[in-house]
Amino acid sequence: MRPPTETVSSNDVMPRQAEVVIIGGGIIGVSTALFLAMSGVPVVLCEKGEIAGEQSSRNWGWVRRMGRDPRELPLIVESIKIWEGLSRTLGEDVGFRQSGIMYACESAEEEAQREDWLKAAGSYRLDTHMIAGQELTDRMPGASKLWRSALYTPSDGRAEPQKAAPAMARAAQRHGAVILQQCAVRGIEKTAGQVTSVVTERGSIECKTVVLAGGIWSTLFCRSLGIRLPQLGVRASVLRTGPLEGPPGAAWTAQFAYRKRLDGGYTIANGSENRAEITPDSFRFFKDFLPLLRIEGRHLQLRFGRPFFDNWRLSRPWTLDEMSPFERVRTLDPDPVEKTLDKAYQALVRVFPQFRETKIAQQWGGMIDAMPDTVPVISPIEDVPGLIVGTGFSGHGFGIGPGAGRLLADLALGRQPIADPSPFRHSRFYDGSAIAPLGGV
Ligand SMILES: Cc1cc2nc3c(=O)[nH]c(=O)nc-3n(C[C@H](O)[C@H](O)[C@H](O)COP(=O)(O)OP(=O)(O)OC[C@H]3O[C@@H](n4cnc5c(N)ncnc54)[C@H](O)[C@@H]3O)c2cc1C
Repeated sequence: MRPPTETVSSNDVMPRQAEVVIIGGGIIGVSTALFLAMSGVPVVLCEKGEIAGEQSSRNWGWVRRMGRDPRELPLIVESIKIWEGLSRTLGEDVGFRQSGIMYACESAEEEAQREDWLKAAGSYRLDTHMIAGQELTDRMPGASKLWRSALYTPSDGRAEPQKAAPAMARAAQRHGAVILQQCAVRGIEKTAGQVTSVVTERGSIECKTVVLAGGIWSTLFCRSLGIRLPQLGVRASVLRTGPLEGPPGAAWTAQFAYRKRLDGGYTIANGSENRAEITPDSFRFFKDFLPLLRIEGRHLQLRFGRPFFDNWRLSRPWTLDEMSPFERVRTLDPDPVEKTLDKAYQALVRVFPQFRETKIAQQWGGMIDAMPDTVPVISPIEDVPGLIVGTGFSGHGFGIGPGAGRLLADLALGRQPIADPSPFRHSRFYDGSAIAPLGGV
């Protein structure tokens, strides 16, 4: 089931030409469209379903620097600067509030891990610090449990996933971008190796540059072009409650995570358990993901079932004049794992009994596009001049989304990038680089 997401009206006419075509209307695609349109570039965005239909409306809404892999820190710092002025730029409130984020520590081991991250992030002069005792109690008013300590960043915050990407898409339209929904891109045509057009289910659009921001679908799209992009799906589950008086801001604990919503309710999830569905890609990319599995394996439930066969069926090659897998699944809407959510909610209620007074308004699932080093690809593809990929945000692309969109626009226009794109290069998967997470927590 999809969370209630703001809608966007598609443009009536599909242009036959554009400077840049963007594939995918999640936060990455729409922010790229916004920055290109604001620079006066003719841009068309094609979305197979609806704007923010997949991950971008289903996430927790956390916008954080804290706990980031150090390679992402320069870009998330820029991204938060964009968030700070975003509601003003868009002319509508997308719920960005710097209401603080906290990672509660239960054990000495957890605490040491958080402190290590804090030391590593030292040069970025963040306002992150460890808290304990009364300060921690004050930040979790009403909690029946006292944690050992917490890593806390007052200036990190939140925004509303069901508002942000649609608002950015509408603003992009006002600046001249064309947004087409129910318009899957089946593939790309090239002349002498260079991109010359995209082929959609409604016909072709000539263009010199294509930005692929297809989330979990990017690997399949790339494979159809002979490009290897090691990315796997992780199913995460979320619930939201009705309005209530509860703790401010957002916090992660080993049993549950919460975030206060603009509508007065809370977005709740299990802080530690996600499900990795075994699919044919799990075997294709097994070696790439082995280092990550060794670190994160205990938080992942590996499951074999229907998704294996769905993925296998969808992966069969298609031609550009027949229906593609992207039209077969307009919106990927995985079921939430109720057991995982129930465990989290029960743990939350034990600590904050006032949650008993409200109803669980809704539950949903979302498929995270995970990379083997948990760092995205934001990069031109060397073998296909004209193609730029922005994907693999590994469960934290909402906060970094505006920064990533700005960086993708910079790469498309060949201008000074907002942050160094080299940590995000696609070639790291074949240039001999070591592929592993670098201490994000
Ligand atoms: C449960 C959950 C919790 C999360 N919590 C957070 C959080 O608190 N903070 C945070 O920063 N991040 C979080 N994330 C991650 C964040 O949501 C994603 O990283 C981010 O939304 C990715 O945006 P995207 O635009 O790359 O992908 P998506 O939002 O998945 O968008 C990709 C779009 O591309 C479209 N598409 C694909 N192929 C084609 C095609 N061929 N033609 C046309 N359209 C196509 C799809 O339909 C889709 O709409 C969470 C994710 C989940 C699932």
